Parts: sequence; structure tokens; C-alpha cells
Amino acid sequence: MKKLGVSALGVSGKTVLVRVDFNVPMAEGRVADDRRIRETTPTLRMILERGGRLVLASHLGRPKGKQDPRYSLAPCREPLAWMLGREVTMSPDCVGAETKRLAGQIAPGGVLLLENLRFHAEEEANDAGFAASLASLADLYVNDAFGSAHRAHASVEAVCRKFQTPAAGLLMEREIEYLSRLLEAPARPYVAVLGGAKVSDKIELLDSLLARVDSILIGGAMAYTFLKARGVETGSSLVEADKLDLARAIEEQARSRSVRILLPVDHVEAAGVNEAPGSLTPGEAITPGHAGFDIGPRTSTAFAGVLAGARTILWNGPLGMFETRGFATGTRRVAQAIAAATGNGALSVVGGGDSAAAVKAFHLESAMSHISTGGGASLEFLSGRRLPGVVALADAR
Ligand code: AMP
Repeated sequence: MKKLGVSALGVSGKTVLVRVDFNVPMAEGRVADDRRIRETTPTLRMILERGGRLVLASHLGRPKGKQDPRYSLAPCREPLAWMLGREVTMSPDCVGAETKRLAGQIAPGGVLLLENLRFHAEEEANDAGFAASLASLADLYVNDAFGSAHRAHASVEAVCRKFQTPAAGLLMEREIEYLSRLLEAPARPYVAVLGGAKVSDKIELLDSLLARVDSILIGGAMAYTFLKARGVETGSSLVEADKLDLARAIEEQARSRSVRILLPVDHVEAAGVNEAPGSLTPGEAITPGHAGFDIGPRTSTAFAGVLAGARTILWNGPLGMFETRGFATGTRRVAQAIAAATGNGALSVVGGGDSAAAVKAFHLESAMSHISTGGGASLEFLSGRRLPGVVALADAR
């Protein structure tokens, strides 16, 4: 699945339309977390240093096809200009006469930031005319917005047909490279760690993993659906009652494929979230009236033992309610075990916003091989689906 990369493009003297992911959290009209802007700057700098001009396009939130100042990308202008060390011009729209005029006036080494793509319903409708208007602003196209690659939207999919060499940005290339390594001949043993709130969000991922991994370690609220399906008392823990048969079917498939599924053997339980730090259960059962909010010490030790022998690791979803101080230990221990395995040569990929946030909170970002920026996109990629935004890019020559 090797795609054409931005470094292969001759950008000197050209205007390059870059689809970026500036879908950043905002607070009181300011960028609350600039990580997504920062992560795409290597691609932007490379184009500028090689003599290109930039037109940047992104969506922000869900303005539902209407102009809505709450979803303006204007607050991104200043942090972007700061990171690039140059002026950034903000366009009042992403298409239309004024945008066209501004794009035509970009000085060499200049940057034009377009207004929110989703102010036009045509963006999410993958409209060919809208894509043509975007394409008319530039000579070349680069997609560095992996987080949007699973959506067939105009700036991601249809626009590619208007260019001969739609290419992947550096961030996009890195995502494709690391995630592909989990799909194509991963080094064994391959261990997946799954957590988070729901089994239902991860059914396709589980299906895909069953064909590829040696072990699946399950924690978080997800574990309670599996435990309940095994007939274990789960008290008032979060259980998806309509997914018990599914959990049994997954366990059955795992057995037939010789994939080990490890569930928690002890927990941190409490009557409610506000009762943190709660208490440890002696075994796999939860006390009636209580709910499980974290995996216990015997579980984290068992998980760490499996991880120590792994050569490929995928982690998606926290193992407990890690946002609450008293329920973060299990997630921290597992993150540390993954970091240690990575230090010993394993390839580790962290996918999903919550696990990425946990890794950041534990200051273990540099200890992981790769932290995916795209929650939904990385899940779909790892489920074996072809992402429209990746498929549409030109193949490497
Ligand atoms: P997801 O988006 O599916 O990865 O779920 C992440 C969320 O699951 C986080 O906000 C966690 O706090 C939550 N979570 C993890 N473990 C539990 C648990 N045992 N009970 C309730 N929520 C949990």
C-alpha cells in the first residue's frame, strides 16, 4: 500500500493545497490544544523550504453546512504562524471569488489558511463541483489529515481526482507505514490490548485482530461484557446486555484460532465514580451494588507478563476510568509495560484518543513506537478497511 509521498513532489514555485487536520479543541475562542497543528508542521515546512506556497484546508467540528462563527478556523491562524515563523493569511471562506483572489496573490513562501470546509454541505457530500473549486486554488495536492481519511468527503476524496499526483504528507505517510506493519506480517507474538467503554465500537477491530494476533488483553468497561457472558458477577459495572452473545461468539472464535483472550482476574470496585479510590476485589467477581472502574494488581501483573514477551503491540482504549485519579493505576501499569517492551525492541502502536491522552498524562509519549492521531481512522484501518482518503492518493512510483 505504498503511496506517493510529499517529498517526491516538485513543489518549487508551485501552490500546494494541503488538507490538514486542524479539528482542534477550542476554549473561549482560542486553541486549547495545538497538538494537531504542531504535528503537521514538518510537512508544511518542507513544502515552504522547497519554495512552495501553501493553501491549507481543514474542517472544525460539525457546523452542518452553514457559516457559524463558533466553528471558525481563525483562532488557528496565530499558533500556526508562530510555529511556521511566518505570516499566515486567513481567507473568509474556502471557495468563491475572494478565496480565489487571495490564493492567486500568495507570495513565494506564503501561507493562506482557508475557512472551515464544513461551512459548505458539499464538503461532506463529496461534491465534485466543490472539489473542483478547491482544486482550482492550487497546482498540487497533499493530504496530511489522517484523522479524516476514513471519510469520503470532497477535500479528502473527490479532490484527488482533480490532480495527477495527489500525495501523502509526512504525518499521513507515518500513519500508513506504522498501521500497515500491524496488518502485514507483524512480528510475533503480536499482543493487542483493548479497553474503553464499549465492545460495540470495536467489533470490526476484534474480528480483524482475531485473524492476526496471538493474545488479546481486555480491560476497561469492555471487560465486563465479556465477564458477564462467562457467567461472572459484574454488579453494576457497565455491561452491554445486547452484546453478550457477541462476546461468547468472539471467545469461541478465539479458541478455534488459538488466540488467547485474557480478562481481568481482579478489579478496583466502588459504589460509584465519586467513591474513588474504591477497594480491591479478591477475585474476578464484582460485589453486587458495586461497579468495576479499573483492573486490579494481579490483572496488571498478568497483562505486563504477556506484554514483556510481545514483539508487536497494539493498544486501543484505557483499562479503567483513568481520568479519575483513583482509577488510573491499571492503565498506567499497562502503559509502562508497553513502554518497557518497546524499549526491548517491540513495535508498539497506540490508537484512539483516550489511550493517546493516557500515554501523554503518564509522560510516556516518546516511549511508544507510534501514537496514531486518528481515532476512528486508525480503528477502520486496523479493521482491514480501505480508507477512501488513502485509496484516492496516487501510488508511489
Ligand atoms: P472508548 O472511547 O471506548 O475508548 O472509551 C474510553 C472511556 O472508557 C474512557 O473515558 C474511560 O473512562 C472509560 N472507561 C474505561 N474503563 C471503564 C470502566 N471500568 N467503567 C466505566 N468507564 C470506563
